[in-house]
Amino acid sequence: MFQKSKKLISAETFEVHQEIFRCPLCKKPMQVIHLQSLVCSNQHCFDIAKHGYVNLLSRGISTKYDKKIFEYRRLISKGSLFNPLDVAVSQIIMNRHSSNEPISILDAGCGEGSHLNNIQIEINRKKPMDLLAAGIDISKEGISLAAEGYSNAIWCVADIANCPFSSQRFKFILNILSPANYSEFRRLISNKGLVIKVVPEQDYLKELREILYKGSDKQTYSNSLTISHFNKHFNILDIESIRYQADLSEQLIEPLLGMTPLSWGTSEERIEKFLQLNLKQVTMDFKILIGSVKNKPHD
Ligand SMILES: [Zn+2]
Repeated sequence: MFQKSKKLISAETFEVHQEIFRCPLCKKPMQVIHLQSLVCSNQHCFDIAKHGYVNLLSRGISTKYDKKIFEYRRLISKGSLFNPLDVAVSQIIMNRHSSNEPISILDAGCGEGSHLNNIQIEINRKKPMDLLAAGIDISKEGISLAAEGYSNAIWCVADIANCPFSSQRFKFILNILSPANYSEFRRLISNKGLVIKVVPEQDYLKELREILYKGSDKQTYSNSLTISHFNKHFNILDIESIRYQADLSEQLIEPLLGMTPLSWGTSEERIEKFLQLNLKQVTMDFKILIGSVKNKPHD
């Protein structure tokens, strides 16, 4: 029996939603051609990759996030460490989307895609609905892993400072533990849309922080600047706090150390000390900022 390839399934999804795209080079509308490429009216052409994503960067950008880090993050997500957070975000979306209209979600800076995938699954479990999910990240390694693992979203390698989507396309923009570009978010959000930003709170991974960064200014963390910056661009409708202890199995210790910048640049000695702790739980602590657009008509 003929079985559709991953690339073909994705190409069909891209085609159904092709009107959301805008060329990152010339800003013209785009179309899917021959289920192979996304092409703008000026013939700028971006091919659909084998795993089913499109790379819309005009040039390669190297980031310090290599493939290994995304693989670690995937393991941590599979280990359910972020589940309560993802459930909380999906609940915010459900609570603030009362109508039966289709729902559109952009995860800006989605990495290897597990947050977006978990959030989609959670929404569909509670109330199956017409849902468009798109995830973008500047890292090709992250997006490639996202597309490989999850086929229910549009995955693009793209710059969040120059998103390949036309204006006012998304009801919800998620920005989870990742840098933001608020002027782009304001352009992309629909009139009554919301930006949901997750930031780490003071006790996030404190067990690691206490050992790896003991005595340095990175031992503690404050997000007050992030919140005031967010507040300049959006009306903060609500701030939710979420804090929990996540269970750690032995197999998750290495991915936990590897996925986080916390362990970068620390000494072998401290890592060894951390491993000897034989930690069984780790603290997860976040704030979820929910913002609506300020003065949209005058932007
Ligand atoms: Zn173009």
